[in-house]
Amino acid sequence: MKIRTKIAMAFTLLTAIALLLLSVYVYFLTRQHLSGSFFTRLKVRTTIAAEIRFADLHGDLLSDLRERHLQRLPNEMDYFFDANNTLPAQVVAKLPELPASFAEEILESGSAETSIGFQHYTGILHQSAGDQYAVIVSAYDERGAEEISYLFNILAAGFSVGCLVVFLFGRVFAFHMMKPVAGIIAKVNTITASDLGERLPSGNGEDELAVMTGTFNNMLDRLETAFELQSNFISNASHELRTPLTAILGEAEVALQLPRSQEAYVRSLNTIQQEAHRLDEITTSLLRLSQISFDGRKQKIEPVMLDELLMSVKIDLDKRMPENNTRMLIQPVTDGAELFALTCVRVWMELAIVNIIQNGIKYSNNQEVLVTLSADSHHLLIQISDFGIGIPQEEMRHILEPFFRGSNTRRYEGHGIGLPLAARIVRLHGGQMDVVSNEGVGTLVTLKFPLTPDIKIR
Ligand code: ADP
Repeated sequence: MKIRTKIAMAFTLLTAIALLLLSVYVYFLTRQHLSGSFFTRLKVRTTIAAEIRFADLHGDLLSDLRERHLQRLPNEMDYFFDANNTLPAQVVAKLPELPASFAEEILESGSAETSIGFQHYTGILHQSAGDQYAVIVSAYDERGAEEISYLFNILAAGFSVGCLVVFLFGRVFAFHMMKPVAGIIAKVNTITASDLGERLPSGNGEDELAVMTGTFNNMLDRLETAFELQSNFISNASHELRTPLTAILGEAEVALQLPRSQEAYVRSLNTIQQEAHRLDEITTSLLRLSQISFDGRKQKIEPVMLDELLMSVKIDLDKRMPENNTRMLIQPVTDGAELFALTCVRVWMELAIVNIIQNGIKYSNNQEVLVTLSADSHHLLIQISDFGIGIPQEEMRHILEPFFRGSNTRRYEGHGIGLPLAARIVRLHGGQMDVVSNEGVGTLVTLKFPLTPDIKIR
């Protein structure tokens, strides 16, 4: 069932319940009021009937008055009984439809009234010449029956028409309510993988639908970026892999064309080996990049003292790149050294930091790279700054795409994997990586980790 119909049904149901309760209330109150007035009339007639029957002096006069002025009620009957212990039995014998309690009530309280449907009964005790009698008069409330039946018809018709009108209005209302949703569905159906740039109209920006549209558009943003990254990644990866492969194939082809000297073969083999190494490096980096996100569960997560980790990075760098000018600056912390403890996968964190520092060394041609470690009561900060070639402003948004390399890096070796890899590692540890750079001035990379990290590896 469509939501539109559901809303209209819910509307109708609620209105039907309200109308029904109101109708029942009106029906019973009116019925009570009608029988109340009929009883009043009947009681007067009971008194008159008693007077006529037992008051000898005025009996004829009253009887005459009654016949002439008081119209007889439909089905009106008078009954007279001796008011003694046998009254209930007498009444039940004469009027079997009445319960014995009716006669008992007359004896007890001097009067009683009851009705069966619209047939009403009134009974009173009457004293005459020292004797006590019970007088019961019954009559059919014809007008009351007619009025109640009329009222019932009006209420039933009002109820049915009311429900119908509310259902129709409900449908129109629901249609208008759901119109934006229908629009969204139609629009979403037109969005395919090839045109992820499409967005839903954002509406008035206040109601839940606008929030839903915003959320959906955000999801599309993420999907579009992921798709773009994916396609860039594949084309860049094939390009990166093809370059050394072409070099290997070319070199081998040239070497095999003619018989060559020993030295020429050695040169060719050296070139081939170099290119094969490059190929190996690229595939290893690729493998690492994919493992970082998928193999997380196998890694050991432990608290690592970042100051120690930076020192071991420095020792390693000094061995591998003796020309480097990296300086480590550990800012003193007031609340104890344990503030530098970061729960992380040590090898990954080391890899991320080394990649960023190596970039600083490489792109500043071994000028000074300053690594600062600091902490406050909420965060751990590692800042890595250099005075190198910097990154062109318009290329900043691409630097985290795998295989992207700045246009000013042609003179430098690299595959465009280190920085995206570092960013992914930092993100997996609940941290944040910011890069600020000015072409020709330098680059500052900031890693920020919350003291209680939200690690997404487990
Ligand atoms: P690469 O192997 O090219 O260094 P990265 O993934 O480490 O790959 O970095 C991607 C790109 O970001 C680099 O090609 C370069 O353009 C830019 N970049 C990163 N770090 C620096 C830096 N410290 N100075 C200048 N450019 C940088």
